[in-house]
Amino acid sequence: MPVSSKPGLAVERVQTLNVLLSNDDGFFAPGLKALATTLEQFGEVMVAAPDRERSAVGHGITVHQPLRIQEKPLLPGMKRSFMTSGTPADCVKLAVQGLQWQPDVVVSGINRGANLGTDVLYSGTVSAALEGLLLGFPAIAVSLCGHDEDGYTMAAEVITRLLKNDVLPLKPGALYNINVPVTAAGDVPKYRFTRQGTRIYDNIFERRQDPRGVPYFWLGGKPLPTEEDPEVDLTAIADGCVSITPLQPDLTNYGLLRALRAGGNHSDKED
Ligand code: MN
Repeated sequence: MPVSSKPGLAVERVQTLNVLLSNDDGFFAPGLKALATTLEQFGEVMVAAPDRERSAVGHGITVHQPLRIQEKPLLPGMKRSFMTSGTPADCVKLAVQGLQWQPDVVVSGINRGANLGTDVLYSGTVSAALEGLLLGFPAIAVSLCGHDEDGYTMAAEVITRLLKNDVLPLKPGALYNINVPVTAAGDVPKYRFTRQGTRIYDNIFERRQDPRGVPYFWLGGKPLPTEEDPEVDLTAIADGCVSITPLQPDLTNYGLLRALRAGGNHSDKED
């Protein structure tokens, strides 16, 4: 297997990279299979994926019901592969803390559709990777910005190249949110390092009536035109580039924290 000639930890690890793979589109989604197929060249691929569509469940976990698992090889010959009744975060937690699997990296995807800007906060795909990070593993979330079936093979190829070329240092605390644009057949797009942008939607709820005349709502909406900051993930995709955003679980607003402290609002200060 050819690897990058660049020196570094990632190249050494790429040759035996054991992967825990999950997703939020479910065990039977084409993106999961495409990624498993290409990642097998690096080492063992272990699969823990939801038994149904779990998109947009965020980082939810199951605490009031049992978690059922069904062992099933996603690809022929896989020894560690199951689907569960739980969420994407459940899948990763269960594999690591329930079954004691110890991967080198947790990978989630390939998601059907983008996970850009503030949408990452709703994303089951990103949450599976984030759970991996919280458990101490480097993690990668992969999303295809479209619904083109052929795009999964290209997106899987993009991830393979990034790993082989040492673009993604796989160290503890590293979480990469990678979005891949749909390109013309055969084209492998360039990549750009980005920060998380802001995604805003229009026409959020559609009001409808059920057959008994009772109103209900359906959440939909289209994203509004994106910000034009070349630094953000949304712009990279609009420009036809792969977007790589390093994320972190710390949601602290440091600017506000500094302002609070500067204003004397210390909790340990006398009133
Ligand atoms: Mn999804």
